[in-house]
This record gives sequence, C-alpha cells and structure tokens, in this order.
Amino acid sequence: MVTMTSAPFEYEKPESVAEASRLLSKYGGNGKLLAGGHSLVPLMKLRLASPDALIDLSGINDLKGIKSTANGLSIGSMTTYHELESSSDVQSGAPLLADAASQVADTQVRNFGTIGGAVSHSDPASDLPPVVLALDATMVTGSQRSGREIPADRFFKDFLTTALRPNEVLVRIDIPKLPANTGTAYVKMANKASHYALVGVAAVITLGAGGVCERARVALTGAGPHAVRARRAERILEGKVLAGNVIRNASKRVGAELDGMFNEDVHASAEYREAMTQVYAERAITAAVANAG
Ligand SMILES: Cc1cc2nc3c(=O)[nH]c(=O)nc-3n(C[C@H](O)[C@H](O)[C@H](O)COP(=O)(O)OP(=O)(O)OC[C@H]3O[C@@H](n4cnc5c(N)ncnc54)[C@H](O)[C@@H]3O)c2cc1C
Repeated sequence: MVTMTSAPFEYEKPESVAEASRLLSKYGGNGKLLAGGHSLVPLMKLRLASPDALIDLSGINDLKGIKSTANGLSIGSMTTYHELESSSDVQSGAPLLADAASQVADTQVRNFGTIGGAVSHSDPASDLPPVVLALDATMVTGSQRSGREIPADRFFKDFLTTALRPNEVLVRIDIPKLPANTGTAYVKMANKASHYALVGVAAVITLGAGGVCERARVALTGAGPHAVRARRAERILEGKVLAGNVIRNASKRVGAELDGMFNEDVHASAEYREAMTQVYAERAITAAVANAG
C-alpha cells in the first residue's frame, strides 16, 4: 500500500539565516529546509523523506527579492518561478531565466516553487539548473558563522546532491550582466504530464566582429544524473562563425560530459534521450545565435 501522508515532524520558523543554520545543526541532518515545498512535500507524503523537522524559510527577509545592480542581478533564494517570469528586471537582465521559469509545470507550481528550492534539490529533470550554469551564476550561501560563494559549475554534484554543506542555507543567486551581442535560449522536450524536462538545453552565445562566436555556454538537464555544462560543445563553437554545420557538430558533443550515463526510465530510454539531446541542443544554439544577431 502506498502511504500518502507524511510521518510526524516538528515545525520551526526561523527569522534569520543564522537561526536556520543553527536549527539544521540542532537536528543533525534530520532537519529539512522548507521553501515552496513542491519537491520536498511530495517526497514526504510518499515517505521517501521523513525529516524530524521542517525549517520553514518563509519568515527570513534576507532570502526574498530581486535586486538589479551595476554587475547584474541578485536573486533571493525564496523568489518564486512566477516572480522570475513576471519581473521586468529578470526579463531584461536575464531573459533566459524568465523564459525557463515560464516553462516550469503549471501556475500552481510556479506560484510556490522557488529558485532556491529548485537548484538546491538538484532534480535531474529540473529546468533552472542548466540555466544558472549557462548564465555563469554564483550561489551565495549562509550559515551560523559565515557564507560562501560557489560558482554554478561547482554546485551540482550528483543526483539530488549539491555542494551545499549540511548546515548551509542558499541565500541568493547572483547572475552577471550579459555581454553585448549575446543571445540566449532554453528549449526542452517536456514530460506531457508534469512538464519536467525529458531533455532540456540552455544556450548563451556572444557574437563578436564578423559574427564569430566569442563565448559559448551550453548546459544540459534531464539527460543525466544532474545538470552539466557541455564544455566540449562550447569549445567547438567558440572562435567560429556559427554556420549550420558548426552548430550541428557541436550539438553532437553536447552529451559528451555524461560519458554515456544517459538516464533511462519509464518516460524514455537512454538511446532516445541521447538522440533528443542532440536535436534540442541544435535548436537551443540556433535560437540563441538568432537572438544574438
Ligand atoms: C506537479 C509538479 C510538476 C513539476 N514540474 C516541474 C517542471 O516542469 N520543471 C521543474 O523544473 N520543476 C518542476 N517541479 C518541481 C518544482 O519546480 C519544485 O518546486 C522545485 O523543484 C523545488 O522548489 P521548492 O521551492 O518547492 O523547494 P522545496 O520542495 O521546499 O525544497 C526542495 C529541496 O531543496 C532544499 N532547499 C529549499 N530551499 C533551500 C535553500 N534556500 N537552501 C538550501 N536548501 C534549500 C529543501 O530542504 C529540499 O531538500 C514540479 C513539481 C510538481 C509538484
């Protein structure tokens, strides 16, 4: 029989990052931070997670809000998908993020789910991890004593595993300003029911003189155990005029970092995901180039 109610738990509502971190230490690995609850609570209902305590982050003001600075955007970890897709600062400063957020699930999930919860959970099919990778974002954490800055490409470690330490809270995500002549795109093959990415590709392309690609960022979700930068594909793109054959060659290498470890589940075989990775990479890079031009 499948249980659809969670095991009993304590409820805590800290008002600061330091207090949340202290509570994480107090419960010694058996306390869970609660953001939008749209990944954690379903796991608890299925008893795949049974924390002793939920530490609700909604009372911490330092985790809220979107700030636009001279260097880019600073986005509080409790910012919801809806706030991301409807913010004019995000639409103009990081259109890739606004667009990807608008592709997540449905209105209800977008009203609750947060950027902090999405990246901290590191679900292999989640939409925002490849976006923060492609945007060269920095994850800023806090704990009882101090904080750290973790580049996005060192943050996602494995299936549901990040570089966050047991007593760390993700405070905000800093996104640098995009260089001039930069185009971005996120495209995904969505699961028809949940809209999670069977395969999703984020591309950020900066063009220089003569249409030569000065800088390429390509990142992948849905295909492997966690989101990854496609560095080998990026190297094929950089320094070249991005004609169709160059984009096609690079797209063939987008899954190279996965070393053959493509996901296989009821939704798609590993071979299918590998093939779709190439198709969606070509679409994302082509769209980003068009946007840059
Ligand atoms: C029906 C449905 C459809 C969905 N479809 C999609 C989809 O199409 N695309 C997609 O990307 N996602 C999808 N999701 C997942 C959804 O986006 C989740 O909301 C998101 O992944 C987690 O964000 P959250 O704020 O709800 O986090 P929570 O569920 O509250 O937390 C998730 C994990 O992150 C930890 N955490 C949360 N905040 C922090 C923080 N600040 N610091 C450190 N750790 C933290 C929690 O302790 C927990 O382990 C779907 C979910 C549902 C229920």
